[in-house]
Amino acid sequence: MIPVIALVGRPNVGKSTLFNQLTRSRDALVADFSGLTRDRKYGEAKVGSQAFVVIDTGGISGDEEGIDEQMAEQSLVAIEESDAVLFLVDARAGLNPADQALARHLRQRNKSFFLIVNKIDGLNESLALSDFYALGVDKMFGIAASHGRGVNSMIEQVLAEF
Ligand code: GDP
Ligand code: MG
Repeated sequence: MIPVIALVGRPNVGKSTLFNQLTRSRDALVADFSGLTRDRKYGEAKVGSQAFVVIDTGGISGDEEGIDEQMAEQSLVAIEESDAVLFLVDARAGLNPADQALARHLRQRNKSFFLIVNKIDGLNESLALSDFYALGVDKMFGIAASHGRGVNSMIEQVLAEF
């Protein structure tokens, strides 16, 4: 069984950048994955000998009212389709109410998820992470997706759970 990992979070947190990093060496999109739509992008990736599928989503704007509207439909579907979720937040933007809403949703769904604090380049990592302690997530990683920093070690630890 190949694990399916969904990338979710507000727009602009770096989901597509991370998707491209993870699938870079094998840019084959998964065409025959069930439920494939143009709103979600499925990629094949590999770390060592462990293959996995990664789903990129358009993101959650946080401008809408209520938890249902706050989650873009494709993100909700991707969460349901996945074995684990990488929940991305932006270290530069700091904690946002939409991040709180997404954390609550993931807990309600009983999903295995990892908090990925992106854009830590040029920042003090432990300070950047501490801004997100309020989300109460113990599996937390700091990365800089656009530089590739921390990405391999993060994904190895995520995949170690499968
Ligand atoms: P998405 O909307 O969540 O898919 O976000 P994108 O991947 O499109 O990235 C949004 C913006 O953040 C782009 O301008 C990226 O270049 C930038 N970005 C992504 N990752 C990083 C990072 O690690 N550090 C910095 N400084 N910028 C980043
Ligand atoms: Mg994107």
